[in-house]
Amino acid sequence: MKLAVFSMDGQQKVGRLSADEACIEPFALAHGHSHVGALLVIEQLLAGITPPLTGEAVPLDRVRLLAPIPRPRRNIFCVGKNYHEHAHEFAGSGFDSSAAAGAVPDAPIVFSKVPESVIGTGDPIRFDPAVSRAIDYEVELAVVIGPGGRNITRERALEHVWGYTIVNDVTARDIQGRHKQWLLGKSQDSFCPMGPWIVSADSVDVADLELRTWVNAELRQQANTRDLIFDVPELIATISAGITLYSGDIIATGTPAGVGIGFDPPRYLRDGDVVRMEIAGIGVLENAVVEERPAG
Ligand code: MG
Repeated sequence: MKLAVFSMDGQQKVGRLSADEACIEPFALAHGHSHVGALLVIEQLLAGITPPLTGEAVPLDRVRLLAPIPRPRRNIFCVGKNYHEHAHEFAGSGFDSSAAAGAVPDAPIVFSKVPESVIGTGDPIRFDPAVSRAIDYEVELAVVIGPGGRNITRERALEHVWGYTIVNDVTARDIQGRHKQWLLGKSQDSFCPMGPWIVSADSVDVADLELRTWVNAELRQQANTRDLIFDVPELIATISAGITLYSGDIIATGTPAGVGIGFDPPRYLRDGDVVRMEIAGIGVLENAVVEERPAG
């Protein structure tokens, strides 16, 4: 099942994508909880309730897709340096405040992005050149938690996954490097494109997923989740040790090699660039980059 959140006739709706991905069938849901998006449906499904569909199939090209969880209830958990090749790429960049720990970490590096940084596919990634001129892209498989839990074991971790989506962990590299902790450089407004929808875990082989990123027409990232240093069960076990995970929590699992900072000189995003990310079996997340100077 693919759950999408979209805007139509001025209203935000949650729908189920048709098998051919041509149409969305909206669920008949009460209004007033739109910020949690697909989580409205996920929570009902977890409770054993299948929410009714409205019966109208809307062509996908007639709606505006939003992030599947437009405003997560709390920060997005993110994992740094979690693909072997990228860990070496990043260690060699000179921007790595955690480089002293070695290129390949011996435990997951976990940071977060604030919920307000989330945007959907098609929304612009905005940056202010007075704040940063080192804007980078990172394609990531993102886990959407289903049943919550604390101290979840590696063996049972996948029982706590409802599905998967794509996150672009957009990063201001200069801010990331200057402040050592990564939150500021990772949480700028619009720096968390998410989507295009959530695919339920039963239709995804999370251990064998191809990820790709294009900047304009150029293929920049291409990898498989087989190259993960810490796999999804390990990440869930690590993060839930002492911290309760809740339905709708999101874990961005790290990016593979090919990010802008990995080039010499670095190739950061510029005004007018279009970043297209694809994970096979999940979908395509595409965002244009827009330079802006806020008034005042
Ligand atoms: Mg990342």
